[in-house]
Amino acid sequence: MKPWLMEILICPMKECRSELHLDVFEKHTAQVDGKDFEEIDEALITCTNCNRWYPVIGGIPCMLPDDLRMTGTQRKAEDDFLRRWRERIPSEILEKGIPFGLVTES
Ligand SMILES: [Zn+2]
Repeated sequence: MKPWLMEILICPMKECRSELHLDVFEKHTAQVDGKDFEEIDEALITCTNCNRWYPVIGGIPCMLPDDLRMTGTQRKAEDDFLRRWRERIPSEILEKGIPFGLVTES
């Protein structure tokens, strides 16, 4: 995703629609017509109001409503994201993130 996207993205929750915060974990520079463009590959988006988190996975911001994130392939992709970046993700999100955190096997 392009960094400027953050200027127009807001929290997708109907009752929220608030500003978001971005933590970039991985990015690269792409060249288009001889010009350098920054592309964000992996990042954590957090909502400053409702405290939900959203992942950027493989350059795609995944900003889905809670119910579509809880199960299936999307849940698996987001679980993998939490595991992949657990050293960089705030512990509040890993422990009790909204809509879910990192489930650790005991
Ligand atoms: Zn929100």
